[in-house]
Amino acid sequence: MLDRQAATAFVVSQGEELLSGQTLDTNANFLCDRLTDLGLRVLGAATAGDRTQDIADVLAASCARADVVICTGGLGPTADDLTAEAASEAFGRPIELRADALQQVEARYRRAGRVMADSNRRQAMLPRGCDLLENPVGTAPGFALDCSPARLYCLPGVPFEMKRMWADRVQPDLLDRLALRPPQRRLFRVLGRGESQLQDLLGDLPTLFPGVELGFRTSMPENQVKLVAEPDVPGLDDAAVLVRERLGRDLFSEDGGEELAAVVGGLLLRRGERLALAESCTGGWISHLIVTEAGSSRWFDRGWVTYSNQAKVQDLGVPLELLEAHGAVSEPCALAMAEGARARSGADWAVSVTGIAGPEGGSEDKPVGTVCFGVVGPGVQRTRRMQIPSRGRTPTRRFSAFIALDMLRRQILSPG
Ligand code: ATP
Ligand code: MG
Repeated sequence: MLDRQAATAFVVSQGEELLSGQTLDTNANFLCDRLTDLGLRVLGAATAGDRTQDIADVLAASCARADVVICTGGLGPTADDLTAEAASEAFGRPIELRADALQQVEARYRRAGRVMADSNRRQAMLPRGCDLLENPVGTAPGFALDCSPARLYCLPGVPFEMKRMWADRVQPDLLDRLALRPPQRRLFRVLGRGESQLQDLLGDLPTLFPGVELGFRTSMPENQVKLVAEPDVPGLDDAAVLVRERLGRDLFSEDGGEELAAVVGGLLLRRGERLALAESCTGGWISHLIVTEAGSSRWFDRGWVTYSNQAKVQDLGVPLELLEAHGAVSEPCALAMAEGARARSGADWAVSVTGIAGPEGGSEDKPVGTVCFGVVGPGVQRTRRMQIPSRGRTPTRRFSAFIALDMLRRQILSPG
């Protein structure tokens, strides 16, 4: 197990919309991840609604337990923004108008060419003795307060603002104040192997490399393998070499590395080749993954969403007789779709997907989740039929998009 002497943290989320289920608390998730990465042990996370006393109670309780408390939300100008008041109450620091905070809020409005409403003065009312945390991307400044022995950081709720202030102000402050020893971490992103297979393949690592912890995470169809070790544990690099060796082609990316579409793009770019798509059940999802990557115009030519049989015939030249004989969800149809896309675009490669996303439309020999793929390229004609574990329409479509790109990746890596 990791060092239990590590500095501790607690995360507080503020907002009635989090408790009523209207907003998903992504702030806590982000902060727990970053705090853990820095080597802090997160003791807990709590949510408080829009009542000053509730927020004050949660802040007091978490500051009594952890070295660092990070609270998000409730710094805005409206009556339901109560965090500064709650901190003032919890720690007996009178709330007062801070000239420097007011200046920041005013400057922010001036730059945006807007007149500051009176209610915005509220954003400059902060507990006495706090350190102001400038908000470079929004109006609400944050603040940090020493609540001995804890240090409390209050950040705005808007995720974009909160993340920027975490990076600019909170993380450097924590590194400065706490003798943090971030654990060593390696992350491996895998396609084509399930968690239990990965466990069998890599389960001996902690024995081979004492002090190295092995962990798994699933985001279907991707699986992730994690190695974590205390900073002074040797051998993590050697363990990583062994993991790469054992995973082989199933490893498609590492740590902060490329997304699958970018990996495929890199392979195509190196060969000076371009790609076209023929999508049915994925409905443009593969195109979306591709154009999310900057520079994809250098290797992505075009994509068709041919949802109806008629579109498959008209736009891609799939023979009507083929559709009648095999159905739209079939390997012959996937192949004809890819061939059509390749011929009509002139691209070097074409990838196709046709399947039954459900919940209706399944049959005994083609149940919901049946998906057929095609990959054609220079001297290559591949098809594959898969039964995708049924978790609903959206997961099936997403799963299919990744499988299609991965088929192309593997085809380019191992021709033949
Ligand atoms: P503002 O000046 O925008 O009022 P604020 O600090 O008062 O900032 P909130 O009013 O609590 O922040 O939240 C602003 C918006 O940020 C919310 O409408 C919500 O969409 C989002 N938000 C707040 N807290 C969270 C959270 N924990 N996770 C994800 N989104 C959040
Ligand atoms: Mg608000």
